Amino acid sequence: MNLNELIYPYELCHLPYPYEALEPYIDAKTMQIHHTKHHAGYVNKLNEVIKKYPELQKVALVEILQNLESYDIPDEDKEAIRNFGGGHINHTLFWSIMGPSKEIDEDLVTKIKEAFGSVERFKEEFTNTALSHFGSGWAWLVENSEGQLEIYSLLNQDSPYLLGDTPIIGLDLWEHAYYLLYQNRRAEYVQNWWNVLKLL
Ligand code: MN
Repeated sequence: MNLNELIYPYELCHLPYPYEALEPYIDAKTMQIHHTKHHAGYVNKLNEVIKKYPELQKVALVEILQNLESYDIPDEDKEAIRNFGGGHINHTLFWSIMGPSKEIDEDLVTKIKEAFGSVERFKEEFTNTALSHFGSGWAWLVENSEGQLEIYSLLNQDSPYLLGDTPIIGLDLWEHAYYLLYQNRRAEYVQNWWNVLKLL
């Protein structure tokens, strides 16, 4: 799914693999609840708010998030778009970068080596960022407006598009992403997640 194509009315995308495909690292029950309850909830709530704004229905979600501050709409609706639009786009990316088998993105590997020295160094830095993030949110690898790769974490469902950056890799750090299988062991989830990130 090309993130740039997401536009109203928003729909829950199908996963490109079965719920059990990422086991043993992510269990089928977690995947099912995450997709059909959490992600679906963000999609429904995003549609509810965008339904009120015909002018936003014609604008791609990426562009809405990039320009959110400039719209003349109530703050509570901006907040809803930030949370639910972010939730929709973040999860759409998340499902697409995982898979049961590796599909190495050689261009990305090259860029990562240039920026971080090696894929291992990148993973170490990304893992440290993920583990030092407090509370709900995501760890991100983004390309900024100067074309440089950057690692950071953002709270809640905030999307890198809000900052003018383009997300490349996102790791969901909300407890709903791992709690059934890992309980409080976020570090183990983060370490195991590299096995299901298909790009590297
Ligand atoms: Mn999630």
